[in-house]
Order: sequence, then structure tokens, then C-alpha cells
Amino acid sequence: MEKWEENVRRVTPYTPGEQPDFPDMVKLNTNENPYPPAPGVLWRMREMQYENLRLYPAPGADLLVNALADYYKMDPEQIFVGVGSDDVLAMAFLTFFNGKEPVLFPDITYSFYDVWAGLFRIPYECQPLLEDFTIRKEDYYKPNGGVVFPNPNAPTGVEMPLADIEDILQHNRDSVVIVDEAYIDFGGISARKLVEKYDNLLVVQTFSKSRSMAGLRIGYAFGCKKIIKYLQDAKYSFNSYTMNRPSLELGAEALKDEAYFRQTVEKIIATRERTKKRLAELGFTFADSKSNFIFVTHPDFSARELFEALKKEHIYVRYFAKPRIDNYLRITIGTDEQMDVLLAFLEKYRKER
Ligand code: PMP
Repeated sequence: MEKWEENVRRVTPYTPGEQPDFPDMVKLNTNENPYPPAPGVLWRMREMQYENLRLYPAPGADLLVNALADYYKMDPEQIFVGVGSDDVLAMAFLTFFNGKEPVLFPDITYSFYDVWAGLFRIPYECQPLLEDFTIRKEDYYKPNGGVVFPNPNAPTGVEMPLADIEDILQHNRDSVVIVDEAYIDFGGISARKLVEKYDNLLVVQTFSKSRSMAGLRIGYAFGCKKIIKYLQDAKYSFNSYTMNRPSLELGAEALKDEAYFRQTVEKIIATRERTKKRLAELGFTFADSKSNFIFVTHPDFSARELFEALKKEHIYVRYFAKPRIDNYLRITIGTDEQMDVLLAFLEKYRKER
């Protein structure tokens, strides 16, 4: 090791899902939306002023913040935006998890949380999910330096009832509670309204999943004005211009087409429910998912072997070589046609065993 390396901030990075690029692939590995963004987004892309790209974007991202405020009927000062919800969450970890007590999150959850905790030197303690993959709310009642969990949880897809979230909030008036709602639009109930009641709550959402805009990187958070101001202060101390001009314009545009949004989300929910039935018939088991993925296991198959067999066919799903979940696969809900390709393969795979 060189001398200078002693001063390096070393981190174990997050491993994102693969982004292969085969024309025939069925890509069900990163929870992307299989449908295109709202048609107005394409129209707006064509209308965008190329000449304006020489200018910095508005540091307050006003166009998008105001569009979100109108859409959700909230005050613009209750909204923070960032480069995907990863950026919003990272900024929130940096800002709010600055105490000595450990931050609490589930042992099976979004695998970026422990990475940010490592990066920012935040002490943390994982709370085991119950066998059925539900979160035991009482595990979050002890002294802590903050609480964070996705709802629905990832990669399990399991939703926590809003009443349980409120119980967690009531037991945590002295620390910040972050609810990561990346998948909330696929049938979950949002905790967004609770920000009026709890000044220590931050609810984070994204355009990456339900609005088909993962490629643009747009995330946002709701909170009381004070909590949002703290986030802004950290952001302006880090990078004033996080959101680029196209993202601001296209994000605001996407919010205008409510009918398209509902239609797309409903299609994915219908495909999910149909896929659940077929997977169950094939002998897979899974917790009930309220997201755009299903986390499955099979008594007769090794998840890793199945993952490799699928990959050979250019069908991509997600496998995590981690304790408790190393015999599971996370399957993103694609179009009906994509799911049919997957299900046909699984049927053949089962017969050949
Ligand atoms: N939270 C959870 C639970 C996720 O699964 C993801 C997607 N990887 C994110 C946040 C981040 O999504 P994005 O940065 O695209 O908004």
C-alpha cells in the first residue's frame, strides 16, 4: 500500500444491476418500467431549446418543484428534488444521520443503505425481517440515530401498513425517519400526508419506476419546510446544480399526463397479478408484492442456477448472493409478452428437471 493510500476514503461500492444490451433480451433485472414515458415527454424533447443548454439550470429546480407542488397539492417549500432518489437519499443520509446512535434499517432491504452508511461513516444496525419478510415495527422503537426503510420494501415487495409506519413515527419523535417510496405507485399507500403531522418525516419518491424515466434521473422528497431547508443547505454545500435542464423540463411535462400514468401503472399491476398466479402454479413461492417486481423462490431449484440458465437465454432477472435471500430471484414486471417469454422458459425448465 502506498503512503497516500492511508488517507483515502475507502468504500465498498453499491453494485447496480447489469445493463446488458442485446436486441432480443428480456430485461427484468433493474425494476425499470417496460413502457415508454408519457407521449408529451417526447413532444417536449423535440421542442426543447438547444440554445439554452449553455445556461446553468435554476439551482432551486423551480419548474419541477412547482410542478410537483401543484400535482401533490403541497407547498413548494415542502419538496426537495435530486438526481434520482439515490441522490435524494444520499443527501438525506449525509444531512440527517449525523449522530452517535446507530441508524436502523432492515437486514433485507435496498442494498444502497449500508453503502451510504459506510461512505459517510454512519453507525448502523440492521433489524431482521420476520420469516414472512415483514418488518417488525417494534424493532424500531429503541434509541437510534435515525430510521430508514423502503415501503414497499425492496427486494421483497412487501408493503407495511400506514398505521404501522405511524407507530414507528410516534416512537421516534427524536430522530429522522425516512420512508423510501420508490415503488409506492404500484398499489401501496403513501405516507406523504404524514409530513403535515410529523416534522421528522421525509418521504422519498422517484420518476424512475412508475413514470418510466429512470434514464433522466429524477427523484424527490416531501417533508416539513424545516427538514427540506436542512436538505437544501447540504445540497448547496455540495453541488448547486444537481438537476439538468432537460430533466427539469421533461419531469414537469410528465406530470401533466395523469391518464397515461394511471394506464401504465394499472397495466403493470394487472401483469403482476397474472404473473403471480402463473408462478404459483409452477411451484414458486413469494411474499405478496405491491411493487413492480416479485421476489420468488422455488423448493426444487437453485436460484443461482436458474439465474444463470435464464441469462443464457438473454432473460435477465436479479440475484443477490446474500444471507437469507441467496435462493431467491427478483423478477421485474415487464410487458405481458416479456412475462410470457419468462413463464414459457420456467415451464420448460421445470419439465426438464
Ligand atoms: N430506493 C429503492 C428501494 C430502489 O430500489 C431504488 C432503485 N434502485 C432507488 C431507491 C433509487 O432509484 P432512483 O435513483 O432511480 O430514483
